[in-house]
Amino acid sequence: MTATPRIDDPALSAVALFLDVDGTLLDIAAVPQAVSVPAGLRERLRALSRASGGAVALVSGRAITDLDALFAPLRLPSAGLHGFEHRDATGLYRRRRLPSAAALETARGAMSRLARQHPGLLVEDKQFALALHYRGAPQLEGTVVATMQEVAARLGDELDLQRGKMVVELRPVGASKARAVAAFLEEVPFGGRMPVFVGDDLTDESAFELVNSLAGLSVLVGAPRPSAARRRLADVAAVHAWLARLQLEPAAALRQLSDPAHGESVREGASPGEPPGSGMRRQA
Ligand SMILES: [Mg+2]
Repeated sequence: MTATPRIDDPALSAVALFLDVDGTLLDIAAVPQAVSVPAGLRERLRALSRASGGAVALVSGRAITDLDALFAPLRLPSAGLHGFEHRDATGLYRRRRLPSAAALETARGAMSRLARQHPGLLVEDKQFALALHYRGAPQLEGTVVATMQEVAARLGDELDLQRGKMVVELRPVGASKARAVAAFLEEVPFGGRMPVFVGDDLTDESAFELVNSLAGLSVLVGAPRPSAARRRLADVAAVHAWLARLQLEPAAALRQLSDPAHGESVREGASPGEPPGSGMRRQA
């Protein structure tokens, strides 16, 4: 599969679209396994991928196997575990250097001990990364962060600390969403196009900075907050509405995002999804 798929829409031929998943394409759930993919989203992504000649990728904190299970039968080019894993447009898979089993076991042990002491904490084992969610016990943020920092200090040559919304994660060193996007931009069909990155969390900031440096579009999902992103969509429903517009009127949808004054206008067409804050957790 080395040939670039046919591009159906000239306005999309110049765009490389990178999408975070949780909090961007999907509403955050109480636990990461509880998210659901709304009807029509798979088809929307498939149509956009086809129209752009395959230049739509997922860039997530989830493992790629998890992304594939969520979006099956759709299998998009994907970066998993914040860029630790990479699957290009031809389906070729690679990953960065593995953390040792001993390091992962040490981290897992410390996190599990804390979770046993405090109901409401949740350890998520992603095989090569470990996340400690405190959405169920937000008052424990200080304890969680301190514990994770202590573990990271011990294992710092193998695992990096990454904070997110109500979650602290230990992930393989060297992985970042910026590196994930940069890797795609060296590949067909993403290379040479204007990168557009849409994400909601702290883990997305490095990718925002990268696309800014490449004169791309960085789009924050959610309420206004300090961010490197230069555009914003109000919530997941607004992302869905914008993707719909991108499929039907790509030039207009891109112009809309290019103008900060209109960065939120898609909200008008958004579906009345869940009320804000009703969802819960995720992963970056
Ligand atoms: Mg996210």
